[in-house]
Amino acid sequence: MFVLLLAACGHDDRDYFTLAGSTMGTTYHITVLEIEGSQSNKEALQQAIDQQLLLINQQMSTYQNDSELVGFNQALVGEWVNVSANLFDILVMSMELAWLTGGAFDITVGSLVNLWGFGPNGVDMPAKVPAADQIKALLARSGFQSIELGLKDRSIRKTKPVVLDLSGIAKGYGVDKVAELLAYAGYTDFMVEIGGELRVAGNSPRGTPWRIAIEQPDAGAFGQVNKTVQVSGVAVATSGDYRNYFEQDGKRYSHTIDPRTGYPIDHSLASITVIAESSAYADGLATALNVLGAKQALSLAEQQGLAIFMLVKTEQGFEAQYSEAFKAYL
Ligand code: ADP
Ligand code: MG
Repeated sequence: MFVLLLAACGHDDRDYFTLAGSTMGTTYHITVLEIEGSQSNKEALQQAIDQQLLLINQQMSTYQNDSELVGFNQALVGEWVNVSANLFDILVMSMELAWLTGGAFDITVGSLVNLWGFGPNGVDMPAKVPAADQIKALLARSGFQSIELGLKDRSIRKTKPVVLDLSGIAKGYGVDKVAELLAYAGYTDFMVEIGGELRVAGNSPRGTPWRIAIEQPDAGAFGQVNKTVQVSGVAVATSGDYRNYFEQDGKRYSHTIDPRTGYPIDHSLASITVIAESSAYADGLATALNVLGAKQALSLAEQQGLAIFMLVKTEQGFEAQYSEAFKAYL
């Protein structure tokens, strides 16, 4: 153990500290390099971060009955509701992603997510495949085109009884907010991770860019690494089919729903990693491109200059496929 520690902290390493906690139904981990010549008040910093994350949860969670988002979900069809700047921000980005991906990312999937047992209503019930007519009925009551945003006064309304779900982008949003908080406090080198969504700035304690591992997308190979990338000043998000799913009659049902069919995604793309400037954007985009599947994801990535890395299931194991823009990180 002693030898290991020595090896991990060569004399070139900068002083750093870590913070951890829970938020959004998952955990967060933060590594921060000390500002040269000063000593951080870690307790105060952690308190500020926890407060920020509590606020975001209070605005965006579907698991919290009194959240701002649940308030909107309960509002009447046609009624304009004023929302907080944070909630409005993430709604605008969600709509951008919906248009960009032809509706593969669609925050109105809330009732379908619930029906499939992956939402707040699914917490106490065993997941099972719902009846086809139920899926059809909820599909008819969803669709991002039924959301209208009022830019002048940060308001939102629905033209159908849609149920919004921000779980596909909120963790990334939380990462961005914590990263902003750290930067504002004067830190230049850090890594922020919430439930696998992460963003890095500056250098790691070794004085080099951060090394981020892309997992082997295999439910049985927990924590095994397929590829590592060296990054700085970006966010990294991965969506996969190997973590959150249920099985029925030998078939796997993912928590990612294709909003165009109402069914969980079902294709050979095992995981997709997106590198982008904003963590919210990377998070939402990873979920969206996961819906589109390898072929369409790659063509959209080339067309838009997006940095993506995919692991596709083949007879011979996982095949790596990546966009031109991703080569910079390999
Ligand atoms: P992953 O990392 O696998 O993409 P996320 O937590 O980022 O997982 O997003 C998945 C969650 O997003 C689901 O649990 C669900 O609440 C919501 N969701 C599922 N399908 C979609 C979709 N097509 N568009 C937007 N949100 C979705
Ligand atoms: Mg996501």
